[in-house]
Amino acid sequence: MVNECASALLEGLFPNHCCLCGLRSHRDVPLCPGCEGDLLPNGCCCQRCAVPLAAGSGGPLLCGGCLQRPPAFGRVIAPWLYSEQLAHLIHRWKYRGETRLTSLLAHLWLREIPSHGAVDLLVPVPLHWRKLWRRGFNQSDLLCRQLCRMRPEIASGGYRGDLVRRVRPTAAQSGMSAVERRRNLQGAFTTRGACATLRVAIVDDVFTTGATAEAMARTLRAAGASAVDVWCLARTPPPGG
Ligand SMILES: [Zn+2]
Ligand SMILES: [Zn+2]
Repeated sequence: MVNECASALLEGLFPNHCCLCGLRSHRDVPLCPGCEGDLLPNGCCCQRCAVPLAAGSGGPLLCGGCLQRPPAFGRVIAPWLYSEQLAHLIHRWKYRGETRLTSLLAHLWLREIPSHGAVDLLVPVPLHWRKLWRRGFNQSDLLCRQLCRMRPEIASGGYRGDLVRRVRPTAAQSGMSAVERRRNLQGAFTTRGACATLRVAIVDDVFTTGATAEAMARTLRAAGASAVDVWCLARTPPPGG
């Protein structure tokens, strides 16, 4: 009750405006209910890599890629499709440094995943130190922290920003084929400290081809993690899809 009054007072004094339409959002996140309703949930998707699948295909929902070449991670939880609206929000957050959007993005993730089974540890996708220095923050690290703050029970051991390290810079991956991406990421990650028997979730903003998640999952499994899932905000459609 006290919290509700405080947030109503704050909203009256410092009204939030919607990041997408610019109107007052009338709640404590900068996104109005109408624009939030325009975001596209990733409803029917592969149970392993969360790639969107045609609705009503029936049977176990695995895509051809996962059937042919099972990934190193257990499953991807990506509740939203990478729509134009979400791309806009993520771009502002990541490349324009609007880190106040972190709580909005965590709210969107948690809204769609109200009771996902807990893991032991959240692990952000690390940036190479040079990139971290240029950008000033690691967006995936911010998201981990915010998820733990808003819903501590989702990871009993909280998050470990230093568990996985990116030991060499990698080239930007857009435009690369799957084979080129795998080659680009070979030996890019190492772990610091033990993670034996831990159930880990790698946290990232957008899941595209999964090459980064695959390389990290291999590293974590080699260090003893008993299960590695991937938690992402959004999933891109398959190439040409
Ligand atoms: Zn709006
Ligand atoms: Zn799949």
